[in-house]
Amino acid sequence: MHKMNDIKKSKTQLIDELQVLRLEISKTSHPLKDTSEIENSTKILEMIAIGKPALEVYDAIALMYEQRNPGMRCSMLELHGNILMHGGAPSMPKVYCEAVHGLKNGPEVGSCGASTYTGVRVLVEDIATDPKWAELKQFALPHGLRSCWSEPIKNSKGLVLGAFGMYHNYPALPNESESNDLKSAARLAGFVMERDHDQKHIRKLAYTDELTGLSSRAHFYLYLTDLIEVTQEHDNDFCLLYLDLDNFKDINDSLGHHAGDILLKALAKRLGEATPKTTYIARMSGDEFAIIIENVKDKSHLTNIAQSCLDHIAHPINILDRKITPSCSIGIACYPSDGKDLTALLKVSDISLYEAKERGKNQYVFYKKELTQKVEYRFQIEHALKEAIENKELSLVYQPQIDVRTGKIIAVEALSRWHHPQLGHITPSEFIPIAERIGMIKPLTDWVLNTACRQVIEWQKEGLLLRMAVNISPKHFIDKDFVPMVQRILNETGMIPGQLELEVTESTVQTDPKNLKIFQALKDLGILLAIDDFGTGYSSLASLNHLNVDSLKIDKYFIDDLLLNNKTKLLVGSMIKMGHNLDYYVVAEGVETLEQYNTLKKLRCDAIQGYLFSKPVTADIISKTPSYFK
Ligand code: C2E
Ligand code: CA
Ligand code: CA
Repeated sequence: MHKMNDIKKSKTQLIDELQVLRLEISKTSHPLKDTSEIENSTKILEMIAIGKPALEVYDAIALMYEQRNPGMRCSMLELHGNILMHGGAPSMPKVYCEAVHGLKNGPEVGSCGASTYTGVRVLVEDIATDPKWAELKQFALPHGLRSCWSEPIKNSKGLVLGAFGMYHNYPALPNESESNDLKSAARLAGFVMERDHDQKHIRKLAYTDELTGLSSRAHFYLYLTDLIEVTQEHDNDFCLLYLDLDNFKDINDSLGHHAGDILLKALAKRLGEATPKTTYIARMSGDEFAIIIENVKDKSHLTNIAQSCLDHIAHPINILDRKITPSCSIGIACYPSDGKDLTALLKVSDISLYEAKERGKNQYVFYKKELTQKVEYRFQIEHALKEAIENKELSLVYQPQIDVRTGKIIAVEALSRWHHPQLGHITPSEFIPIAERIGMIKPLTDWVLNTACRQVIEWQKEGLLLRMAVNISPKHFIDKDFVPMVQRILNETGMIPGQLELEVTESTVQTDPKNLKIFQALKDLGILLAIDDFGTGYSSLASLNHLNVDSLKIDKYFIDDLLLNNKTKLLVGSMIKMGHNLDYYVVAEGVETLEQYNTLKKLRCDAIQGYLFSKPVTADIISKTPSYFK
């Protein structure tokens, strides 16, 4: 923000100050002698206006004043700290310029050294005899520099930025006209110098990340472009580590942006400690950092640095009295083998980073070609999924739930299937998470609920009364439109709410008290609720006490282990018992064998679902298989 203000300020300032300068030049002592002088001053104002480099403008200023005062030579020095630096002096001898360049200013360092030191004009009539020139005259006199008048160049706040010097090859003091020229020349040079300093400052701001003090993204682009050029010439490879903090958004959301900023600052510092001293690090955006490792010797050199970053980041840290254990993921790409230009390199490092996140975060991943193929496949799927509903590529299959006491089918669970003409069958475990990520889960659930409810009505017409269970993604519990959507579908399809059961995972129940409100709103519609995959999340039966759900579905994981491990059997037994105490209907999922079934029956499980009775099947198979309803 304040960068923009700086730029804006310097623009309006420029317009104002150009006016003043125009006046000032035209006012100087002798009236402008001929049109060439008017041209000269206009040329300088133009150079300033179009932003010509300061050094070019300095030369033009010097030449203009030299033309106005035949025989005079002019110079401009810039003051950096207390060091004099060559500015512009197109007519001055090179040896002399070099002798002055880099000198520390002081009362006895020629006229300009003295004027920058004292901040006031210094007039030296004769360089040969003036003590201020004792040390420097050897560089001046041989080149016919005999008198020197120096005016400090100041910025608009009166700070000395340098000095404007006028030289003659004979001893002299300025007359009134020359004195006025000296003043206006310093003023003009001061204007250019101040603007130049401002611009350098703005550039520095743009190239530095304000929060962390690391390089900015803008600087990273320049740096990498240069590095690629140099590397091409010198043939030493480098690698890019693209780093992204894990779950940073959660910290920002829960502790606020201020805490997020403190964390970023601390972690940026840790990255500096985790990498070799001269390593280039930039903050690319939010919680993303780019690290460039040059002169890479071998892969282990890189893995050591990447691991060191992971380790340093992972130290617990106290932020606003909260202990946080941060972590990060890193994508690694090497030049030139993984990408031959900036764009390609960034792209592949991003692909590797994505892979690191997918593999569970808190790790680094080196780029490989297969990762791009994977991304392309994912991209294809994402793209195809957007059209799947419209192209009627989705369908539902139904898996029966059998009541253990009656042996009859009492419910079915609707499971989505997707067949794409080119990509073939894609499993729900693959496309549901993608749908969640790309914002397709809402239309998908809408379609599933609609199709499933219509199916129930169809079956009703055939005389089959079945409860319909539909899986609901946790994403819906942060969507205020979800309950109205369910309500609308009930209305549109004529579905009896008590015949619809929504299955949600334990994590949905646990994450946020706000979810409980949605639970209640769904219950108010008269819908049944089931906790899916029970036992795999981290809720306890006790914590479900206050939840108004109707059934529990014990996860297949426990059923698989049921006959292999007596402890599991005990656990499943107590899950069922406690479920009953809380008035839940308990369903066992993934029952594949008769032994499992018999054991569950003994443990008084209410219903079972699994391949033993039926795989998920199409709607017509359900209605055409009388054994289901015996
Ligand atoms: P889930 O809700 O736990 O569904 C049960 C999964 O276990 C189904 O896999 C089912 O085919 C499978 N299964 C059932 N009985 C057995 C058995 O005896 N043995 C074995 N090995 N597997 C069994 P499916 O259809 O591949 O679905 C996978 C997951 O995808 C589901 O797990 C559910 O979480 C999700 N899903 C499926 N359809 C939808 C949907 O329409 N919406 C949402 N949000 N998620 C869905
Ligand atoms: Ca389910
Ligand atoms: Ca399940």
